[in-house]
Amino acid sequence: MGQPWAAGSAEGAPARLPLVLTALWAAVVSLELAYVLVLGPGPPPLGPLARALQLALAAFQLLNLLGNVGLFLRSDPSIRGVMLAGRGLGQGWAYCYQCQSQVPPRSGHCSACRICILRRDHHCRLLGRCVGFRNYRPFLCLLLHGAGVLLHISVLLGPALSALLRAHSLLHTAALLLLPWLMLLTGRVSLAQFTLAFVMDTCVAGALLCGAGLLFHGMLLLRGQTTWEWARGQHSYDLGPCHNLQAALGPRWALVWLWPFLASPLPGDGITFHTTADVGLMAS
Ligand SMILES: [Zn+2]
Ligand SMILES: [Zn+2]
Repeated sequence: MGQPWAAGSAEGAPARLPLVLTALWAAVVSLELAYVLVLGPGPPPLGPLARALQLALAAFQLLNLLGNVGLFLRSDPSIRGVMLAGRGLGQGWAYCYQCQSQVPPRSGHCSACRICILRRDHHCRLLGRCVGFRNYRPFLCLLLHGAGVLLHISVLLGPALSALLRAHSLLHTAALLLLPWLMLLTGRVSLAQFTLAFVMDTCVAGALLCGAGLLFHGMLLLRGQTTWEWARGQHSYDLGPCHNLQAALGPRWALVWLWPFLASPLPGDGITFHTTADVGLMAS
């Protein structure tokens, strides 16, 4: 038998590779925004006020994106350091043989993170760690602002892309967008055209990915479900949309999307949860 509060060993320590990968893609998005605003083909000429608003929007999106990335990486969603000894061991509790600990309802062991995660949603391959009770808010905000900033860059690149279409055939532009590396290596396009296509491709693909993730997790958020519960059709923790939002994002759930460091403490502890049955009892 291991220690009942368990968790928190050298093998459960966060890996460095996910941190490096996350830092890398965050740097790429920042560089792509700088490319389109400062160095690259740039937006069409604007008046000083419109230009200032455009820069303010880009700064707001980038600060929110990077702030939420930082918060996501700093928040440990696991049971590491959580006192689980003597916490009831009621319905829904289980024993994890890998962690050698009793674990609460809605938690799950992650083989990639090698530890149990409180209110485990899923292991995010792109961010290299699990999404759980403590980092769900920055994860959702990251999806929103990731989709927003990538869409912004794509829109700003629109005029440069239409200029490319006017200068070349549709087939040439399509080949450039679909196979930019091949077109560059065979000498059919300039480095500037390749960069434009590469940035456009990565931004459109990234915006679609973040947008799809946001729609899916928005649906789960309103239903009070984790991905694991959704896959098994479980609705035990659905308290109604308003209470579900508060449970996942805190009392200021409507404002947390605007600033990553806005205080909105979560009402629960990630160990015990109100169930749909509790709400029914309170209402009756
Ligand atoms: Zn475990
Ligand atoms: Zn994981």
